[in-house]
Amino acid sequence: MDDQDRIIQGMACDGDFRVIAAQTTVAVETAREILDLSPVAADALGRAMTGSLLLARLLDKDVRNQYVSLRFEGNGPLGTVIADAGVSGGVRGFVANPVPQDPALNVEAAIGNGMLSVVRGTPPAGKPYTSKILLGGKGISTDLTRYLMRSEQIASAVLLGVLNRRDGVAAAGGIVIQAFPHATEEAISAIEQRIKEAPPLSTLVEKLPIEDVVATVLHGVHYKQIDAGYTVPVKYTCSCSRERALAPIALFGESDIREMIEEGGTEVICQFCGRKYAFTPHDLLALTAKHDA
Ligand SMILES: [Zn+2]
Repeated sequence: MDDQDRIIQGMACDGDFRVIAAQTTVAVETAREILDLSPVAADALGRAMTGSLLLARLLDKDVRNQYVSLRFEGNGPLGTVIADAGVSGGVRGFVANPVPQDPALNVEAAIGNGMLSVVRGTPPAGKPYTSKILLGGKGISTDLTRYLMRSEQIASAVLLGVLNRRDGVAAAGGIVIQAFPHATEEAISAIEQRIKEAPPLSTLVEKLPIEDVVATVLHGVHYKQIDAGYTVPVKYTCSCSRERALAPIALFGESDIREMIEEGGTEVICQFCGRKYAFTPHDLLALTAKHDA
């Protein structure tokens, strides 16, 4: 298996369509290991992570540090599902209840009905921009397609897939195909036909490198990958730090902090990467001093 996760870009139908595709198998398997995901949770989060990477690239306007955060708040057994990705290929995720009682659920049922928030920002400049749409119950690909149409006025097709095998995630990836306004009716229907006939994406990703996966899905229409210099490596990475871990504790009331001090300190575990941050009574005393000030 080809084990270098990456994002590639290309053009289809003489520039009528932009194509961005991601192979995310290793990143999703890493998430499964760190977060102890059940197969359905790995499927849901893997799709969300891949979608956030594709959107970060798609919505990039030559800003090198744009990020996209997808937050699914459904009433299904997984609870909140979060995926964060940056334009440079870093991605991380979180699932509130990674092991639902019914292991046979599909992703739609496991997420349920509710809201999808899409946050995008370009730190350190400006405020992040948030859009919310109702989850349509037809899967993450469909929700992201609707988001792109409604909030970004981008006509697109989004394909996402994750393949679980007995020993973990065997394949994960996605493709977003953006139709430019000058795309002809004929080209649009040709692309739609290819998408409709495409085999499940995850089974293609298991067998082929992502370049060949895209070529297989778009067989018969003119497709050309953009210079491989635009290829971005993908990696599961977390931006947590000691300072950020301490910030929520500072919001506790004084009596709660005193209790932690009497217990000999406290520990914060990052919900995205599992890193542990230990705070001594001395660290916590500094917080109460701030309260007093
Ligand atoms: Zn972390």
